[in-house]
Amino acid sequence: MDTEFGLIEWIRRRAAAREGVPLGIGDDCAALRLAGEALVTTDMLMDGRHFRLGEATPDQVGYKALAVNLSDIAAMAGRPVAAFVAVALPKDNAGAIARGLWEGMRPLAERFGVALAGGDTNAWDGPLVICITVVGEATARGAVRRSGAKPGDALLVTGPLGGSLLGRHLRPRPRVAEALAIHEAVDVHAMIDISDGLAADLGHVLEESGGLGAVIDEGAIPVHEDAVAIARDDGRPPVEHALHDGEDFELLLAVAPDDADRLLAGTPPGCEALRRIGVVSDRPGLRLRSADGAERVIEPRGFDHLAC
Ligand code: ADP
Ligand code: MG
Repeated sequence: MDTEFGLIEWIRRRAAAREGVPLGIGDDCAALRLAGEALVTTDMLMDGRHFRLGEATPDQVGYKALAVNLSDIAAMAGRPVAAFVAVALPKDNAGAIARGLWEGMRPLAERFGVALAGGDTNAWDGPLVICITVVGEATARGAVRRSGAKPGDALLVTGPLGGSLLGRHLRPRPRVAEALAIHEAVDVHAMIDISDGLAADLGHVLEESGGLGAVIDEGAIPVHEDAVAIARDDGRPPVEHALHDGEDFELLLAVAPDDADRLLAGTPPGCEALRRIGVVSDRPGLRLRSADGAERVIEPRGFDHLAC
């Protein structure tokens, strides 16, 4: 039988030290020493809502819970520093589930140089809930916000989209290194990670950037093979999945057109899948341009967590 203290000790023994984290698990607070502006993000995953234990294993849940937070740090072109993990564990199997969560987080934490620096451990009769907070630091170039897109900017995505529900949504690859490399090469005006779907998340950027619009070239959207596979089953066009499915965790960014040329000519390390998909416009609305030049307005319908 695990005790809360035993479990925390088990985690503490395995938590790697990191520069910038002089104090991790074991005290009332962690202490961080950040090089730049602090970036803080939180995401909560609930059994029955965002995953189902049984279909997803605890280590898959742990991986995803950390990865989605790292993706938010990537979207600001920041460096992740420390993660804080709060869990509500089902009483029946609390210890095994907690260790499973940690096994899923560990490889990601190592790969991205994030210290597991604290958390909170509870058990109850309810389902598993895991809430991770990641603290990161902006680079000397500053954090990239959603709000900096300008008319005429080129829109780019870091990889293929759609069909993540086939399984990819459980193992997103946070584009931290890609974002840092891109932001080092050029001035990124605005960026967001695609969690709600390309259309919805582009909508957020345009809205935050002062009510701008965009034209997307339908043929330029990189469509993931999973979107093609799902489309075969449900009969909807693959590009619809690429536009609306969500949970891709690729980055969408707006840069000056010259900078887009530069990025695509001299690909930053790891950014081979970078594609230009369209242009920001001062005419509000999101328009999809097909190969024959015809344009149609698309609605940025995304997933609303309060609506269902
Ligand atoms: P307090 O009661 O002072 O908040 P806790 O007993 O909750 O402290 O936690 C003790 C230490 O263990 C703290 O450093 C806390 O951040 C850490 N901790 C607790 N649960 C977890 C967890 N699930 N993962 C990582 N660290 C944890
Ligand atoms: Mg305390």
